[in-house]
Amino acid sequence: MFNLARYFSTLSFALILLAAGGLSLLYRELSLHQMRELAEGRNVAMAQVFENALHSSLERLLVSSVGRDAQFLRQAGEVGGMRDSVVALMHDTAVVKVKIYSRQGVTIFSTDPTQIGESRLGKASFRSAMNGVVASELTHRDTMETFAGRRIEVDVLSTYIPIFGAEPMIDGVFELYQDVTPFMAQLRRSLWLVMAGVLAVCATLYLMQYLVVRRAQRILKEQEGRIKAARDTLELQVEARTEELKRANRQLQGEIVVRRQAESKLNYLAYHDPLTGLANRRGFIERLEQSLREAADKQRRLAVLFIDLDQFKQVNDSLGHGVGDDLLVAVAARLAEHVPLIDMLARLGGDEFICLMEGVHSEADAALLAEEINGAFTASFRLGDHELFLSASVGISLFPGDGQSVLELLRNADTAMYSAKAVGRAQYHFYTPEMTRAAQERIRLENLLHGALELGEISVHFQPQIDADSRQLVGAEALLRWQCARLGTVDPGCFIPLAEDSGDIIGLGNWALRESCRQLMEWQQDGFDLPQVSVNISVKQLERPGFVENLAAILKETGIEPSRLKLEITESVVMVIADACQLLERLCRLGVTLALDDFGTGYSSLSYLKLLPVHQLKIDRSFVTGIGSNSGDEAIIETVMALARSLGFEVLAEGVENAVQAEFLAGLGCHQFQGFLYGEALAAREFSAQWQVAA
Ligand code: C2E
Ligand code: MG
Ligand code: MG
Repeated sequence: MFNLARYFSTLSFALILLAAGGLSLLYRELSLHQMRELAEGRNVAMAQVFENALHSSLERLLVSSVGRDAQFLRQAGEVGGMRDSVVALMHDTAVVKVKIYSRQGVTIFSTDPTQIGESRLGKASFRSAMNGVVASELTHRDTMETFAGRRIEVDVLSTYIPIFGAEPMIDGVFELYQDVTPFMAQLRRSLWLVMAGVLAVCATLYLMQYLVVRRAQRILKEQEGRIKAARDTLELQVEARTEELKRANRQLQGEIVVRRQAESKLNYLAYHDPLTGLANRRGFIERLEQSLREAADKQRRLAVLFIDLDQFKQVNDSLGHGVGDDLLVAVAARLAEHVPLIDMLARLGGDEFICLMEGVHSEADAALLAEEINGAFTASFRLGDHELFLSASVGISLFPGDGQSVLELLRNADTAMYSAKAVGRAQYHFYTPEMTRAAQERIRLENLLHGALELGEISVHFQPQIDADSRQLVGAEALLRWQCARLGTVDPGCFIPLAEDSGDIIGLGNWALRESCRQLMEWQQDGFDLPQVSVNISVKQLERPGFVENLAAILKETGIEPSRLKLEITESVVMVIADACQLLERLCRLGVTLALDDFGTGYSSLSYLKLLPVHQLKIDRSFVTGIGSNSGDEAIIETVMALARSLGFEVLAEGVENAVQAEFLAGLGCHQFQGFLYGEALAAREFSAQWQVAA
């Protein structure tokens, strides 16, 4: 930092010296000037005194000296007399020497006679006096001859004073030497004092200023320190803030990237199915809307194909959701790869896919695509250790014939798909307005069925089961009947699947179970001892947690002997229920009997069969029908009989309509029969009326 105190002290010191020197010089000059004027005035006055006193002698000297040499002048009596007079006059004055010059500058008189004859013509002061102006010279002499003898170290002021004759003539020049040594000594002393005074004042001033400056510098230094500290703090704060901003910026950038990624992921998820990577419903709808606008503008046709996998639920239920998901991915890949006619493929959810075909010229184009889709399922799907055979049902709706809007086309393709599924597996159907009517009818039926139980329209009928040997009544199968007020009698083959789909089967099935048990107990009280009642149990009922407890409650409530109740379950229970064996074991522990209904129509593995705690196999009606006419059916029955024998199952044949069938079955060792040959299902009262007597 700039050192103010040092700068100030150096500068002030120099200035003080300068000022002191300058003032001293000025004082000296002024004093000298004053002293000279004073001394000069005195010399002039003394010269006047000389002139007045020695007037005549002087005049004579001036006249007689003209043209005379020094020797002559020295010896002239005039000079001698004058010297005495002069010396007498000078006595007690400061004048120590007097000289008189002629007009030619020759010294014609001097109190020091050795100087007579010397010329002063060249001297400026002499010439000045000759011009009428008094001039003086101040000199210091180491030694000087005075009228009073030799003197040393003297300061003298010599003044040249003109001697006026007849005006305006100047006859000669006086030179008076005045001893000013005391003045000069006084002057020097004063000078020293003045210098000392000036120096003292300046030094005091300097000191005061120096203190002020030093204090100021200290304050400045403190301020500077404070400013520096503040600046350092500020710099640190700025640095920290900059770092913070950078960090915040980096964080912000990171957040922006994450947000963008999240946005694009959300955007992707909004339009894609995360499992298969195909477009989702929304993605498909937006694309279809666009395609519809273009098709409408260009008057083109397009097709929407609704694809539903036929056996996906079984795969999912039996092999687990992981395999189910893998299967969906494989199906998506298979369709995308092997069906080039598809313009857009999407997954709607579950096992439902949908595809769009643009530029459709005729129904045949869409049919070709549907065949390709069905064809894609001919090869099996291999997923890990599992080889799965799958098929799909396809429903087709065409624009503009089957609908103008996205929703209409989707709904109608869905309806067509249901229609295809109803017919069987691996089918495709074009939408027809009748399908909508059928679907509407189905909805109407569902609605009616929903309230049927409360309206008392549902009842249980009983179909006899006969012992093959004794041909005696050994039991009855309880079968639901619906006498609808609006529709009349509705076939169980129609309303049971409907109830399965809607979930109403749970209420209906439980009611059938309780009602059958109650009826058996009522008959027992009435003296009609039906040995056993068979009740159909839907997989949907078994799936529900608490079924076993519910059954136990019914048994307790109705008081029926558990062994007199037989539960008919289908093979699919093994596929659908995770721990089917355990569940059936629990049922057995209640003491009820189990029968495997519709045996042969499903595809349960035989290895499972031997593990299941069932007592009876019910050979499906479709095989019995073929007896006598279809050797394949007969072979199946023979195989089932052999299997049942080896595993120790009892066998009941359903749908026995004639004696040939009965004989054939009896011949193979079938234990019981059920069918129109022995009787249809009858209402409780009719059944007891007919069979009470026989029993
Ligand atoms: P299912 O359990 O196989 O019942 C036997 C079906 O075969 C009954 O049809 C019966 O009337 C019919 N049937 C019996 N003998 C003959 C015959 O000799 N010839 C012909 N052509 N048919 C015969 P239904 O009553 O129409 O029942 C159909 C199906 O509805 C039943 O098949 C059963 O799966 C289901 N079902 C009926 N009631 C219930 C129920 O309470 N709960 C559940 N879950 N399903 C039921
Ligand atoms: Mg049955
Ligand atoms: Mg059956």
